[in-house]
Amino acid sequence: MQTGLLIVISGPSGAGKGTVCQALLEKKPDLVLSVSKTTRQPRAGEQDGVNYFFVSREEFEQSIAAGEFLEYACVYDHYYGTPRKTVEKMLAAGRDVILEIDPQGAQQVMHTYPEGVFIFLLPPSGAELRSRITNRGTESMDNLAKRLTAAALEIAQAHQYDYVVVNDSVPAARDRIFAIIMAEKLRVSRNHNLIQALAEEVKK
Ligand code: 5GP
Repeated sequence: MQTGLLIVISGPSGAGKGTVCQALLEKKPDLVLSVSKTTRQPRAGEQDGVNYFFVSREEFEQSIAAGEFLEYACVYDHYYGTPRKTVEKMLAAGRDVILEIDPQGAQQVMHTYPEGVFIFLLPPSGAELRSRITNRGTESMDNLAKRLTAAALEIAQAHQYDYVVVNDSVPAARDRIFAIIMAEKLRVSRNHNLIQALAEEVKK
């Protein structure tokens, strides 16, 4: 059995990562979206264990010390981290796992898991990004300004990724990501066992 693909999706606040990831899961329910731990407060409608595991700073720091994270980072003054065990178990079981994480975390995964697939989601324009963040209405003006400054810095990091996907429409962005996943699964480097088994079968 092929191990699953680890698909890392980053992009600035307002690129639509959450919406695109939901669209991926709706159309392909066998994908798994990793649930991160965070020290930030839940927003209205967010559920513990579904959107994030909401934990205290102490608990998060204990998890760091115990080596429980595949990667973690401090984003907008809060910790966010990917629980290692769950991800590894899913990959070993052949499931494709999506990590929706920031570029600092993605860089860590690029080092520890280079066979991952690294996708950067871009907004169609700066004006659209600004309006998406403003219309979301969940951020104070102070946070909004922080997110816009961070967005510019994050976009500059897209060069380190394998793919860029412009989120001009959610179904289009979703289908571009499916195309990436399909092509990645067909890479020779991921199919040596299949090729060898077939060559041996033909030889018999
Ligand atoms: P938000 O607070 O809007 O849910 O997320 C803020 C940022 O943290 C987003 O860029 C999101 O992708 C990132 N993030 C969420 N979970 C993780 C994680 O486990 N690790 C890292 N490095 N970033 C994360």
